[in-house]
Amino acid sequence: MAAMTSSERPLLNRRLAEFGTTIFAEMSALALRTGSINLGQGFPDTDGPEEVREAAVRALREGRGNQYPPGPGVPELRTAVAAHQQRRYGLSYDPDAEVLVTAGATEAIAAALLALVEPGDEVVALEPYYDSYAASIAMAGGTRVPVTLRPDAGAFRLDLDELRAAVTPRTRLLLVNTPHNPTGTVLTRAELTAVAELAVERDLLVVTDEVYEHLVYDEAEHVPLATLPGMRERTVTIGSAGKTFSFTGWKVGWVTSTPELVTAVRSAKQFLTYVASGPFQYAVAEALALPDAYFEAFRRDMQTKRDILAAGLTEAGFQVYDTAGTYFITTDIRPLGETDGFAFCRSLPERAGVVAIPNAVFYDHREAGAPFVRFAFCKRAEVLKEAAERLRRLA
Ligand code: PMP
Ligand code: GLN
Repeated sequence: MAAMTSSERPLLNRRLAEFGTTIFAEMSALALRTGSINLGQGFPDTDGPEEVREAAVRALREGRGNQYPPGPGVPELRTAVAAHQQRRYGLSYDPDAEVLVTAGATEAIAAALLALVEPGDEVVALEPYYDSYAASIAMAGGTRVPVTLRPDAGAFRLDLDELRAAVTPRTRLLLVNTPHNPTGTVLTRAELTAVAELAVERDLLVVTDEVYEHLVYDEAEHVPLATLPGMRERTVTIGSAGKTFSFTGWKVGWVTSTPELVTAVRSAKQFLTYVASGPFQYAVAEALALPDAYFEAFRRDMQTKRDILAAGLTEAGFQVYDTAGTYFITTDIRPLGETDGFAFCRSLPERAGVVAIPNAVFYDHREAGAPFVRFAFCKRAEVLKEAAERLRRLA
């Protein structure tokens, strides 16, 4: 049989064909086009600390980072990341061998999967999952195996038996995310201990996305997986300045792990961006050294925002799930007489002047996610109140 000519072949390869345009781009464009309040894509509508912004300006002016920074990241930032892990969690990392700076958490995730997964390997991930996970697993040629978080007593929870059952001889790694986007769930110490025991027992690698580590509310506690017994040596931990310092456009992220795992991730990372965000790396190094009071004030402010939006959504008739962490509230639209989150989100700008994200995009089992819709609360209080006012029109 003759090979298909290139003009007959789809341009986008099979690995990526299912992904289309990310929902965040689609929904942010919809918000712009319709002049709606954008509670879709998770980015703050106010910039982070002035002194951090000034630190970036200083770095630019002084010519620090305007040319390619070192591949692993500037030493100041690697040292600051290691000091942060030590100060917050008692985890020791060697800034030279065990820290890698990346172009946001997104590149860290992609590089980790490209480095660690062979074609055909299974990657177990918590569903609903952040959209780049599925795409990165696919680019690595891996097979994703979802374990679905399900509503239980007002919050989305992990079923540990289901997680155990998902691990097969082909499983290469567990991809964990806590605090969890989009559900707002923070895995408890007991749950994470069970995840850790499973990883040790089955000798799995773990990639853990902890970009919302500082955004945990009420009594919730962020437990880094790497702090649990047997985990430091098998865990790649991912962080990002975007969420912690409200500079999502700077794209400064990092990986902490063993020298061997960091070397592997760097092998892939060097051929993605090689390096990024030179001057911003110096600014983030200063940001990570901010006193505890900064992190606590930021957390409290986000918690207040969560409360404003949760109250507004409840009044508008949504079922609101508990949010113990992140920027996001997941709701169920069925009390409003709706069942299809996609259709609901596409009509929401016209009906209420608000944009949200249909959680179904984060599911392989689309039906399981159909009635859930995510709203971001990393916005000014007056914006959240106005959104709540508008959403009352739906009732
Ligand atoms: N992981 C999760 C869970 C996220 O929500 C996001 C988006 N903010 C990222 C990773 C990507 O982070 P970054 O902007 O640092 O690439
Ligand atoms: N992490 C952000 C969110 O979940 C979006 C980031 C992006 O647009 N890629 O809303």
